Amino acid sequence: MASTVGRFDVAVVGGGAAGFAAALAAVKAGRSAILFAPPARFPPGRTAALLGGSIDFLSDLDVWPTLKEHAAPITGIRLIDATSRLIRAPEATFFATEVGRPVFGFNIPNGDLVDALKQRAEATPDLTVVAAPVERVVPREEDVLIAAGEKCYTARLAVAADGARSLARDAAGIRVKTWSYPQAALVATLGVQFPHQGVSTEFHTERGPFTLVPMPGDRVSLVWVDRPVETERALSLAPDDFAREVETRARSIHGAMRLDSKPAVFPLSASLAMCFAARRIVLVGEAAHVFPPIGAQGLNLGFRDVVALGHVLVRHAADPGSPSALRAYHTARQADVRTRTLAVDLLNRSLLTAFLPVQVARGVGIAVASSVPPLRKALIRRGLAI
Ligand SMILES: Cc1cc2nc3c(=O)[nH]c(=O)nc-3n(C[C@H](O)[C@H](O)[C@H](O)COP(=O)(O)OP(=O)(O)OC[C@H]3O[C@@H](n4cnc5c(N)ncnc54)[C@H](O)[C@@H]3O)c2cc1C
Repeated sequence: MASTVGRFDVAVVGGGAAGFAAALAAVKAGRSAILFAPPARFPPGRTAALLGGSIDFLSDLDVWPTLKEHAAPITGIRLIDATSRLIRAPEATFFATEVGRPVFGFNIPNGDLVDALKQRAEATPDLTVVAAPVERVVPREEDVLIAAGEKCYTARLAVAADGARSLARDAAGIRVKTWSYPQAALVATLGVQFPHQGVSTEFHTERGPFTLVPMPGDRVSLVWVDRPVETERALSLAPDDFAREVETRARSIHGAMRLDSKPAVFPLSASLAMCFAARRIVLVGEAAHVFPPIGAQGLNLGFRDVVALGHVLVRHAADPGSPSALRAYHTARQADVRTRTLAVDLLNRSLLTAFLPVQVARGVGIAVASSVPPLRKALIRRGLAI
């Protein structure tokens, strides 16, 4: 085995948004850190709607000033029941100003988000960034050994931020429960004739949500969840036919549309780790939880993992990989991650089900939530998160 070339407090595996954020948070907590971030490519149409807490976190990391120009504010959320069912919810639009806030959050292209985090990481003197992928992670009594690019590194704590098929999570011996949905998500950016005015529109169909989220200028990002055979069909359409079909499905609320990016399809699945820390390794982002893209939950939850990690690193400075540090992290994340996973799963299944009582409950639930002022405000305060 190659000789050990560096010792760190924290080693982060994975250069997605969660990995870069975790490395920056570790340095902010006063720990020496190394990040293994092989270059990643993002389809141009893929964006993330980030809610208030995530924006505060990005501001704390000093990333928000660079990112702001690429982000579109989301000031309103419109829900349209586009099912053909007997019991349908009435259309409801919620505005952040109803609870005295200017915005729910911002919609940001994933590529710009990771670029901004990367720029910040490269300008951070106490952070070492290695572009080689990690080949091996070996937890030991006092540290974790990490092999990458024919070199070895050790750290007191390793952070698994290497996504759904995490090698670092396997090294911790943590099992995941994985399940799939009969759906895929098609994403693309489209130019629109009528301004979106900051309002994100979700059409709820029997096959999943069809969502148009504001982007800077007169553009929206489409997240179209449907049966895989349907998303594949849409993918094969000529650009003008694709734009016309999206316009029709969107009931022309934005007028004529123009395809602005190559559409891309992601199969929908979900997974949940059985625990979030073991053997000097903690899990953040999709290494810990994967959701269908419904209700803008995934990365917002990933950033909350990183915020919790930052607290643990401050409180367990002497040995951030100690059993008490790992316990603290697991306990801090358990309830939030499990409730969100369950809620997103239920919401998605409530759309797919043909079971009448569930359809009624959904329709009535949305109607009551939008028409009873205290419920309406409570929902808006939570960014319409379930
Ligand atoms: C269509 C769609 C729409 C979405 N919309 C939203 C939204 O609106 N709001 C929201 O909050 N979330 C949304 N999400 C979820 C969000 O995109 C994910 O939660 C987020 O991108 C996951 O980030 P991550 O850093 O955890 O994982 P990833 O982005 O998967 O990053 C993992 C990284 O680890 C690297 N890696 C893997 N193995 C190794 C190794 N051995 N060594 C080193 N590096 C390695 C990979 O190259 C990759 O760069 C959406 C998801 C989808 C599919």
